[in-house]
Amino acid sequence: MKTISKISEIRNEIIGWKKNNFVVGLVPTMGALHIGHESLIKQAKDCCDKVVVSIFVNPIQFGPNEDYNIYPRNLEKDQEICKRNGVDIIFHPEPAEIYPENEHLTIVTPPEFYKNKLCGITRAGHFEGVSTVVLKLFNIVQPDKAFFGQKDAQQIVIIKKICRDLNVPVEIVGCPIIRDNDGLAVSSRNQFLSSEARQQALSLHRILQVIVDLYKSGSRQKCEIFTEALKELSDEVELEYLDAYDAETLDILNKLKSNTLVAIAARVGRVRLIDNIVIN
Ligand code: AMP
Repeated sequence: MKTISKISEIRNEIIGWKKNNFVVGLVPTMGALHIGHESLIKQAKDCCDKVVVSIFVNPIQFGPNEDYNIYPRNLEKDQEICKRNGVDIIFHPEPAEIYPENEHLTIVTPPEFYKNKLCGITRAGHFEGVSTVVLKLFNIVQPDKAFFGQKDAQQIVIIKKICRDLNVPVEIVGCPIIRDNDGLAVSSRNQFLSSEARQQALSLHRILQVIVDLYKSGSRQKCEIFTEALKELSDEVELEYLDAYDAETLDILNKLKSNTLVAIAARVGRVRLIDNIVIN
């Protein structure tokens, strides 16, 4: 396994792979790898000849008051995880390699309809930052397939839309949410939760479970279902949003139906957490 930080160097590797007609898979990450990322890598290994994991804490997707500076970084541990999972290349560039020019950057802006809801409400500029870096990574690595976690459901919908609209020849593969045994969706940010905060954070998953149970028992009205489910919200948890969307289009729904994305975001202390479930 190679760890490469320069665009020119990874391009040379990719050129060699393409000559051999290898199917190339890309798993874009910000590092601090955990079992959620590992599941993406495993899926990539299953259906690609060569797998690249990018590790890049992308400065332009963080707002001024967000956690860019304290975001966990641990390259050595990430390298162990990647090696153990048969990754071929870790692409780990410095910010200056990705953004050599500080001014007048070309920014990929997803349509308002997709970005001005869910996490886009409080994270202004986030999806522009994500879309820009993902398109850059696609241009650098030229993968046949790219693997994203359903944990960031809005991100997958937006990346798919950009690929359709801009004719990007990359197949976007969505992978299921990986949870710890207690139900908490695994996240690099969970390490910032105290054991008490972690208990409180579990209420996010409980809320989603109640919603699924009510749906299964025949309820369909969002208001009624959400009012009941929110009784599970721990007092210390500050809800940012809970809503229901068509899982493909992100249309907001008032009645739950099959293929409904129910997504939640909340703050537990200083840690912002997201979770979701797709009802079928
Ligand atoms: P991040 O490093 O947080 O930017 O995440 C990189 C990729 O891993 C994204 O596609 C995430 O959706 C995915 N991911 C993060 N956590 C999980 C999880 N618990 N289960 C599945 N995928 C995840």
